[in-house]
Amino acid sequence: MKNQILKKIYTLFTEWSSHGQIACRKGCAVCCTRNVTITALEGEIILRFIIKHKMAQWFGEKLKVEKAHHRPKMSTNDFARACLQERNVDFSETPGQAPCPFLEENICRIYPARPFGCRMMISERTCTADQPALLPERYLAASTAVTQIIEHLGQKEYWGNMLDVLPALCDISEFSPISRHLSTADMMQARLRTLTAKPLPGFLFTEEEEQTVSPLLQTLFDTEIEGKRIEDILNGNY
Ligand code: SF4
Repeated sequence: MKNQILKKIYTLFTEWSSHGQIACRKGCAVCCTRNVTITALEGEIILRFIIKHKMAQWFGEKLKVEKAHHRPKMSTNDFARACLQERNVDFSETPGQAPCPFLEENICRIYPARPFGCRMMISERTCTADQPALLPERYLAASTAVTQIIEHLGQKEYWGNMLDVLPALCDISEFSPISRHLSTADMMQARLRTLTAKPLPGFLFTEEEEQTVSPLLQTLFDTEIEGKRIEDILNGNY
């Protein structure tokens, strides 16, 4: 059921965000860096896609080649909780801009299975190395809220950089076609680098932003999966 909810979230957000002028085109990969964070649920979708498309060896090699990537100190919901409690938050992290290893000739090889952190990146202008994405107005508030919901959905499981969560999940027997290309030490170290997904402590948007975000969230919460509202499922009331 969680998988169905996640895929529904992907679909609803894509529909919501596809209005207006978007400059993103196949072959533009400026946003594709090693800074993408995911939940375990999102990682499992990627790993199943890799196995289904017989890309296990290629993928295993990609996961073990490069270990230098950004590791956030707190999850989005941890960050939100700290902000809502008016605690000091350390903003000193500086993510690198190295390209994502799943790119080949600027094309994402896992595109149909890409996580929300990739799906939420859109730009109203063509990006270059010197000119980052220009997000539509209030888009960040909506994408952050959805990121928080996805973390809530995956609570108590791995959360972290995609390049840590993916090898961390590879000790599940279902993913043995990939894990045989990784060492036990690789997988163990990856597990140690992940954080744990946390429940939603509340949203961070302002009252003004709420007007933009609410219709999207209400549609999402009212959508039914197997006859149950997603909001009720997320609240454990089903
Ligand atoms: S997974 Fe694909 S879409 Fe996401 S950053 Fe990597 S190459 Fe880009």
